[in-house]
Amino acid sequence: MATARARVIVIGGGTMGLAIAAAAAREGADVLVLERFEHVHELGSHGGFTRVTRQAYHEGSGYVPLVRESEAAWERLEALSGARLLVRCGLLEIGSPEDPELQAAISACEEHGIERVIVDAEEAARRWPLRPPPGWIACFTPSGGFVRVKACMDALRAEAVGLGARVRYGARAREISSGAALRVLLDSGELLPCDRVVLAAGASSSGLLPRRLGALLAVRRRVLGWSTPAAAELGRLRAMPVWGAFCASGFFYGFPWGEEGIAGCKLARHVYTAPGEDARLDPDAVDREIHAEDLAPLAEFQEKHMPGAVGPWAAAKVCLYTCTPSGDFIVDTHPDDPRVVIAAGFSGHGFKFSPAIGRLCARLCAGDDSDVPARFRLKTHLSGASW
Ligand SMILES: Cc1cc2nc3c(=O)[nH]c(=O)nc-3n(C[C@H](O)[C@H](O)[C@H](O)COP(=O)(O)OP(=O)(O)OC[C@H]3O[C@@H](n4cnc5c(N)ncnc54)[C@H](O)[C@@H]3O)c2cc1C
Repeated sequence: MATARARVIVIGGGTMGLAIAAAAAREGADVLVLERFEHVHELGSHGGFTRVTRQAYHEGSGYVPLVRESEAAWERLEALSGARLLVRCGLLEIGSPEDPELQAAISACEEHGIERVIVDAEEAARRWPLRPPPGWIACFTPSGGFVRVKACMDALRAEAVGLGARVRYGARAREISSGAALRVLLDSGELLPCDRVVLAAGASSSGLLPRRLGALLAVRRRVLGWSTPAAAELGRLRAMPVWGAFCASGFFYGFPWGEEGIAGCKLARHVYTAPGEDARLDPDAVDREIHAEDLAPLAEFQEKHMPGAVGPWAAAKVCLYTCTPSGDFIVDTHPDDPRVVIAAGFSGHGFKFSPAIGRLCARLCAGDDSDVPARFRLKTHLSGASW
């Protein structure tokens, strides 16, 4: 007699939810994805059209195999979908040679044999349209680049649906009911039975498991800007790699000039917590207006380090981080109910990993936690710092 397929409900049809759905469907599960909004939107964490992918991982060299696994998955999905998902234009990182994060990026390269070229500030300024201060260095890794958000999410959804997964839009999960029978209650009042639930609700995750996640997750408002440089600068800006700069006020990063969604030079500042920041933002009440003070640090960075990219702002967008205190992700089963899998806290650097996170969650649904890194486990987070 054939065994019944496990019924898996994935809460959240964003970045991780679609990757989890594809991976669980590949393993033979009967998958239903619940998404409160629509396919690819700007109210969560995946808005803004593109995401950096980098192997020179300063957040910890343990992330490198997961980046590589995901990049291989994007390439596999490119072959399946015929769409371009991953653009390997290289990654250029600049900073003081004493900067611990730049040192960590270089160590990750050494540990994992990642091809890199390290040059001084003068040579960097000759080769690329960045101006590192004298004494800084630049590390170029040809494997870096960016992924195209909508194309990636289209490909993940197409794969999941092709394997029999269903995706329901406008379906907001209100509660995970974890009694003898596992069920998900929707806002509509519908109760959906299942064998496993994967919580991948991005910035809204702690609202569904407040007792377990409330103290660990902090939603942050972040702003992406697109500047319009002078026409004479476009050639060099278009040909440059994705870039990052380790500065005292945060990690500034950006993309070559391009027309992904918005024509311009896209950049942002990556910090888990800015001074004075409120640790308890309500994701449904985030200020989505752009203010002068949002763009001031980006303009100041360009004036100092990337003068060719300076120009009027073509656009700016608000996007949400869901941060853990350490910046590491949470990928684990619920400590009180192993039928519930949690994929949350991607702390502003999760997109590039989504295929690998999908695989880890599909394995957790099947009762196998052997590949989950210790840094992603709830007990590691609970034993560390809190907000
Ligand atoms: C400004 C910015 C820049 C970034 N840059 C990078 C980068 O360069 N490289 C990189 O790798 N990562 C980057 N990231 C991080 C990356 O985009 C996120 O880590 C990733 O998108 C998180 O995926 P997620 O699935 O957790 O969230 P989302 O993609 O937001 O998905 C969560 C989904 O759950 C849905 N949902 C919420 N509540 C419910 C509910 N109750 N019921 C049903 N559905 C629900 C939401 O509508 C949403 O679609 C960046 C993030 C931001 C904000």
